[in-house]
Amino acid sequence: MIHEKLQELCPVYAAGALDGEELRELEKHLKSGCPICQQQIRECSELMAVIAQTLPSLEPSAGLKSRVMAQIEKDSPGSSLVEFKTTTQISGRKRPSKALTWLPWACALAAGAALGVSLWNLSNLKRELAGAQSQLNQQQDQIQQIQNQLEKEKGVTAFLISPEVRVTMLAGTPKSPRAAGKILWNPRERKALFYASNLPSPPSGKTYQLWVIAQNKPFDAGTFSVDASGNGFLEIDSLSEADKAQKFAVTLEPAGGVPQPTGEMHLLGSL
Ligand SMILES: [Zn+2]
Repeated sequence: MIHEKLQELCPVYAAGALDGEELRELEKHLKSGCPICQQQIRECSELMAVIAQTLPSLEPSAGLKSRVMAQIEKDSPGSSLVEFKTTTQISGRKRPSKALTWLPWACALAAGAALGVSLWNLSNLKRELAGAQSQLNQQQDQIQQIQNQLEKEKGVTAFLISPEVRVTMLAGTPKSPRAAGKILWNPRERKALFYASNLPSPPSGKTYQLWVIAQNKPFDAGTFSVDASGNGFLEIDSLSEADKAQKFAVTLEPAGGVPQPTGEMHLLGSL
């Protein structure tokens, strides 16, 4: 058998599909130590190992080879088979062996499968990348939120440790006997934090409004909503008449607040 013929048998040998006289001839040739054929078999084996790893569920069944060969015997030869026959005829054989007839089909199948796997891996990779990117964005958002929260808490702490800060308690009126309130305020900086608890849920279209009472006149200090438990919070950056405040009060007003109190009073506290 000429060497070109032996080389063509190497991929079939690597696939474990070589038998009979061809197997004996190639094994004899390999024992003689041909580096070209040994390298070809090594490369084929490595390639098949990679394909097997990528495609564990598509390992060819034992019957695949015989089914493919039976089909080839039945059908009129396809173009790749014709080309292959031409090659083998040039090399001096009248009819290609069954193993060699099967080879181009197996190669085409493997190449198609490998291409499919590559495309599938690529689209998976893109999906994973998009997922990782969105996760990263979420984490950055979370870090930003935590930083904002920290800055806010730092500000509150700085506000609370100032010796100028005063605390005034507010009690519920007969309208809200269980309600209570507390305002921490700095008369000089005019900053204040107001907390309310146990206020009834305001009816639709209404809101609670905080007032500073100075020289017996009410001054707007802002509106606030309450949660399901009746707890409300208001941060005030510029408290009106802070240096002259005598009392604090909360009334129920039309949504958005009003310039002067019109509704019933729910909380009241004096200095
Ligand atoms: Zn060789």
